[in-house]
Order: sequence, then C-alpha cells, then structure tokens
Amino acid sequence: MTTLMSGAMSIVMYSCHNSFGDEVKGLGRWALGLLCVVGAAVAFMLRDTLPPKVALMATNALLFWGIGLSMIGTQEFFGQPPSWRLFHGTWLAGVLGVGWWLLVAPDFMARVATFSFLAFVFYAAQVRLVLRHGARHFSTRFFGALLTLQSAVVLSRGCLALLSGGASVDVLLDSGVANLYLAMANFMALMLTVAFMTMATRRLQTVLESRSTHDPLTGVLNRRGFARAYERQRALLRRSGRPLTLMIIDLDHFKLVNDKHGHLMGDRVLIHVARAIAQALREIDAVARFGGEEFVVLLSDAEPPSAVQAAERIRAALPGGPGHRLPACTVSIGIASHASDEESLDGLLARADAALYRAKANGRDRVEVSETPAPATAPAPASAAGSDNPC
Ligand code: GH3
Ligand code: MG
Ligand code: MG
Repeated sequence: MTTLMSGAMSIVMYSCHNSFGDEVKGLGRWALGLLCVVGAAVAFMLRDTLPPKVALMATNALLFWGIGLSMIGTQEFFGQPPSWRLFHGTWLAGVLGVGWWLLVAPDFMARVATFSFLAFVFYAAQVRLVLRHGARHFSTRFFGALLTLQSAVVLSRGCLALLSGGASVDVLLDSGVANLYLAMANFMALMLTVAFMTMATRRLQTVLESRSTHDPLTGVLNRRGFARAYERQRALLRRSGRPLTLMIIDLDHFKLVNDKHGHLMGDRVLIHVARAIAQALREIDAVARFGGEEFVVLLSDAEPPSAVQAAERIRAALPGGPGHRLPACTVSIGIASHASDEESLDGLLARADAALYRAKANGRDRVEVSETPAPATAPAPASAAGSDNPC
C-alpha cells in the first residue's frame, strides 16, 4: 500500500514539476527519488523470484538513490547547489559496504549499520538545510520535525544494530523493534513526501501571489500590487497626517526606440528604467508599471519638493551618453500630492497625469508638479528644460 502511495505521490510531484519547475525547484528530484523507493520495494518483493542477494543489492542501491535524490531535491528547493559529491560518495560507500557484508563477508549487523549511518548522512544534511534556510512557517517546521525524527530513527537503528548484533533490527524477523521500525519507515517515507509537498505548495502560493501583483518584464509592481501598496501607505499616513505623493513617469518618444532598435532593445530599456527608478527611491516607496512605457511611483511621507529631487535622481540615472550600451533615453514626469483626506487614488492619478501631460506639452524631458489647494503641497517649479531626446 505504501509503495502504491509513494508511486502516486511521485506522479503528483512530477506533474507539479512539469507545471512549476522553474518556480519551485527540487520537485523533479523528489519525484525521481520516490520512483527509486518504489523500485526498491519492487526489488524486495522479487527476492523469492530473483536470486535473493541480487534482489537485496538492488533494494539497497535503489533506496540509497531515492533518499539521496530527495536530499538533492531539498537542496535545490532551498536554492543551494546540489552536493553531487556527497550524493555519489555516500551512495557508493553504501552499495560497496552493503555488497561487501552481503556477498563477501556476510554480516547482517554490519549491513544494517552501514545502511542506517549512511542514510543518516542524507537526512541530517536536509535537517541542516531546513535550519539554515527554512522559512518560519508551519510547512517548513513540519518538514524539519519529520526529518529530525527520521534522522533519530535511522541513527538509533544503526546504533542498535552495532550494540545488539542485528537480530532485533532485521525487518524480516518478527521482533517488536523490527515491526516498529518497518511501520515507522513506511509511514515516514510518506509523511516526508507530504511535508515536502506542503512546503512546495506554500512556495507556489507565494509565487502565484507575486505574479498577480508584479509586472513580469521589469519585476516592479503592477496596477493591482500598486493599489495594495497605496492602501497600506494611505492607512499608515492618515493616522499621522503625513503627506503622500505620486509620480507618473512616461518615457519620451519610446515608440522610436522600438522602431529604431527593435522591441527587444525596447524591453531592455524598460528594465533599465525600472531599476533606475527603484534605486533612486527609498525602500518604503513603491514603483509600478502601469502598462506600456509608463511607471507610477508612490512616495511615502514626502512633500512635492523631495519628490522633485527623487525625479531628478531618476532622470540622471537614465541610459544616455557615449559608451552606454542602451539607447539614450529621457522621461517626462508628473507629480501630485494628496490634496485632502477625501481625495481618492483615481483623483490623485488624474492630477499627476495632468501634470505629466503638461510636461509632454512643454517639450518633454522635464518634471511638472500639480498645483494643490492644500498649503502643505505648494507647487514646485518645473525642472530643467528638455532636450526632447527620442527614447
Ligand atoms: P510620448 O513621448 O508621447 O510618450 O511618445 P511615445 O512614443 O513614448 O508614446 P506612444 O504612446 O506613442 O508609444 C508607446 C510605445 O511603447 C508604443 C509601444 O510600442 C511601446 N511599448 C509598450 N509596451 C511595450 C513593451 O512592453 N515593450 C516594448 N519594447 N515596447 C512597448
Ligand atoms: Mg511615452
Ligand atoms: Mg505612455
């Protein structure tokens, strides 16, 4: 039954790997690892059909492979380079050790100890990963706890084998410890798989959430993500009465960049501009791409004069000048600050858009600030006159 369920889990993991392999790493290795475990169970069942020693060797080799691949999968999941040397070294030591004490100098105790201690290496490596890189979330804690338990079980089985001569840990014998171990091993194999899937599902949820709030090309927020960031900041600042300022940034003559250098180069310019905008701001500020070549920035606790300074920093960081690998580029920027508590995001956007329209009409490559009736948001003068560079 456990073998069948492991096979089913392998299919589930493989299908997840096919759909989300780029976002959630390690699923493919775990799927393959489970297949090896299924293969090991099949080899064990065939011990009366095949020569028993061949069946036992195949069982051990496949089990090592399966457990080792799950370690590689967990490493990939946590973004760590896979330890192929540890994997191959441990697998080889396991197969040689088991082979020696099965074929050359039959010794059940030594075989069990070899298998248990080497399996412990694979499990302990994963416990270390969880402790170092695991997120503070139930799914990670669950996985970590099961791994720790499994490490303790295989370690104590190895010690027991050394101390008691192996008879009590022979899963083929009908002793209490042996039965307990068999039940535990089957149960743990499944539980570990379920726990890893729980972590993977959690990761997937984070990825999907991020996809729904971020622009795939530039990585900054999209409209939805921006609306959330705005609501958060608005609620915070409303209490303290601090100002909230918005900036709309539009690339000048961007169509010409596409026409002259191609769409791919246009995309690179957009990515560069998004990065330049983010770098010119504070961590608390939000950057979004509202489609096309238009970015919107939310400056928290900022009056228009500091927004103008940020706008100038952005303009200074744009591609241009000799030797730059991207085509020269300019932007027009419209700035508006909340006039009152009653003003909506749409109202603020409309005023910033009107300021942007003025910047375009006045020759582009410049900053315009929307006049606000509130005394805290006195108008600032337009910035330097533009060169009307095509971007
Ligand atoms: P203006 O100075 O008046 O803003 O002129 P513009 O050419 O920048 O504006 P217009 O609205 O005429 O053209 C916008 C261009 O942006 C047209 C479209 O090809 C380009 N664009 C929109 N989205 C993308 C994108 O994702 N990648 C690339 N490379 N180009 C895009
Ligand atoms: Mg434009
Ligand atoms: Mg535009």
